[in-house]
Amino acid sequence: MTTTTDTHCPYCSLQCGMRLRTGGDPARAGAAGAPAEVLERPGFPVNRGALCGKGRSAPALLAPGARLTGPLLRDRPGGPLRSAGWTEALDRVAAGLAEVRERHGADAVGVFGGGGLTNEKAYLLGKFARVVLRTANIDYNGRFCMSSAAAAHRRAFGLDRGLPFPLADIPHTGCLILVGGNPAETMPPALRYFRELRENGGTLIVVDPRRTRTAAEADLHLQPRPGGDLALALGLLHLVIADGRVDEEFVAARTTGFDRARAAAMAHWPDRVERITGVPVARLRTAAELFGRAETGMVLTARGPEQQSKGTDTVGAWIDLCLATGKAGRPYSGYGCLTGQGNGQGGREHGQKADQLPGYRSIEDPQARAHVAGVWGVDPDELPGAGRSAYELLDGLGRPGGVRALLLAGSNPVVSAPNAAHVTARLRELDLLVVADPVLSETARLADVVLPVTQWAEEEGTTTNLEGRVILRRRALDPPEGVRSELRVLRGLAARLGVRRGFPEEAEEVFDELRRASAGGDADYSGISYRRIAAEDGVFWPCPDDAHPGTPRLFLERFATPDGRARFAGVTHRPAGEEPDRDYPLHLTTGRVLAQYQSGAQTRRVPELNAAAPGPFVELHPRLAARLAVAEGDLVAVTSRRGRAVAPARITDAIRPDTVFMPFHWPGAGRANTLTNPALDPVSRMPEFKLCAVRVEPAREAAQGPAPDAAQAPARGAAQAPAWGAARGTAQGPTRETAQEVAP
Ligand code: SF4
Repeated sequence: MTTTTDTHCPYCSLQCGMRLRTGGDPARAGAAGAPAEVLERPGFPVNRGALCGKGRSAPALLAPGARLTGPLLRDRPGGPLRSAGWTEALDRVAAGLAEVRERHGADAVGVFGGGGLTNEKAYLLGKFARVVLRTANIDYNGRFCMSSAAAAHRRAFGLDRGLPFPLADIPHTGCLILVGGNPAETMPPALRYFRELRENGGTLIVVDPRRTRTAAEADLHLQPRPGGDLALALGLLHLVIADGRVDEEFVAARTTGFDRARAAAMAHWPDRVERITGVPVARLRTAAELFGRAETGMVLTARGPEQQSKGTDTVGAWIDLCLATGKAGRPYSGYGCLTGQGNGQGGREHGQKADQLPGYRSIEDPQARAHVAGVWGVDPDELPGAGRSAYELLDGLGRPGGVRALLLAGSNPVVSAPNAAHVTARLRELDLLVVADPVLSETARLADVVLPVTQWAEEEGTTTNLEGRVILRRRALDPPEGVRSELRVLRGLAARLGVRRGFPEEAEEVFDELRRASAGGDADYSGISYRRIAAEDGVFWPCPDDAHPGTPRLFLERFATPDGRARFAGVTHRPAGEEPDRDYPLHLTTGRVLAQYQSGAQTRRVPELNAAAPGPFVELHPRLAARLAVAEGDLVAVTSRRGRAVAPARITDAIRPDTVFMPFHWPGAGRANTLTNPALDPVSRMPEFKLCAVRVEPAREAAQGPAPDAAQAPARGAAQAPAWGAARGTAQGPTRETAQEVAP
């Protein structure tokens, strides 16, 4: 008998609606023995039935061969992982956490979450850290994703939600500037909104150092040097002011701080901005005129301007452009962020961020602490304060005063953290590493205990998409017998650590508690229920009571600041954490490709995605390639101050001659994050993934140097993913785990 279940894709922040058919003819079930088949769900308003290849092939993740099916345990450092039962595994974890807490204090135990976890998991993970472990040190990989946009959003508007309007508003705006985003590859179904905008007579401007598939569809492509986005925004604001296109009425009625922003912009005259960014003055003028004269307009940013050591200020400068032209807090106008991970938005609202409690409350706010402590049934004074941000937490692993036992859920920092060889070495210094994941990721391979947990179609739970729309993932099939949900895992650990109440395993019960914890907070979910989400195809927060319709559009009446006015940032250009010099003369920028997702822990296990994008590459301009005597497909070595990566050259004039690009989805020799700079934004603590200084050489000339991880002795003796790319076209490292790596 076949069953169909309406649910959502496990990957990106679009959270496309899909229908899963289970129980049908196995022969039709698709690749790798996937126990489900994806059907269109045309009624879901965000993607209207469209899916990218990642979503269509997602059932391959459910096949037993692709995922973990029982706990794994390492008996001694350097020994192999072996199969274990749940009781033994949880006993080992609880004893290890308790021992480290006893010997080194509560803050020596850390928790590292993920932006793909459901709201319920993120909420309960935060509660577990604060109530059971009593540690301040919890953060998550969303810090690496949207935190600069979030900080800028809060600074300007008093509230952070990815988009303050539904995607469906995009086709109705007059001019949209997309800065450092490539939805044609990262979320293809969203591209239709940008196409409809142009069909309706609107203008699309794309800012990107690469001529991406999205940039190729734009009316105007501005191609600045990496790190030039802040100066570019200021240059456009300068021209808007000089051309008399400031909306004086809006600025006077709904904003504060314009004088400072005007002074900053006037110091960024066109010739100066051309020198900083490489964008010709004529194109700057065209962009300023198109945006300035449009009745309505939007600026959307993505990881390009955000993943910088000045990301908060860069986003702030783009918001200033919106505010000066009256393009915020009005229909079909405003600033928004294209969030990245599946629950990047909800994941940061409910307490797995080092400085936040559920409902987007500050952990330093006495009222917020009292409210949440009341819901949790604990004394507010017992709640820890703010802990270390993600990179600072990872950098301190195993050091005096740092975390010595780490519980990690839904994240793969061995591939996705900046300065990844260093982070890998720090992970190896831990007294205890516990990884909860559906798959044996590169980080899980280092763990002392691996806990196999449920994934999207095997569980129920909510996520919040980039629009702030809270949606419901439904369970379409049973997980393998040896697999448990994180909620059940946390319940089991809490009980072993002496807390027997307050950790339900049913997602809806957790959500009902989350609603109460969020009540009165910025991200107020108290009027949202599973029943309403199902009936209404999602509900937009804030939604403070059952009768409230939800809030698809924010700020139409007032901004969420104490005086209701938006605040100009008034920032100025500054260099990146690392600029090219004689030894490292090129910019490296990193990013994504269509067929892989984030660290690739999931998508590298899907055969059709692996076939489409089998390994890393280095994108080079033809002039640079000629100077280096490198031909298409030749191996090149890219070296930064942190290490070296080797991958085949891909030669294209879509990139600037002073810049090379690498996607970051792979481990091993081609790992882009071996190179990236962990310089942090002072406000958001976002590392500078998007640019660093490198040199590039034919690999044969650089072959004598140490491999990125060679200097890091494998203290844990964990099996390492094989290096990629011994030769062009080499198949990617294992997508399944072998018997040798997981000794029975
Ligand atoms: S666009 Fe994102 S949510 Fe939609 S199918 Fe692709 S990966 Fe999934």
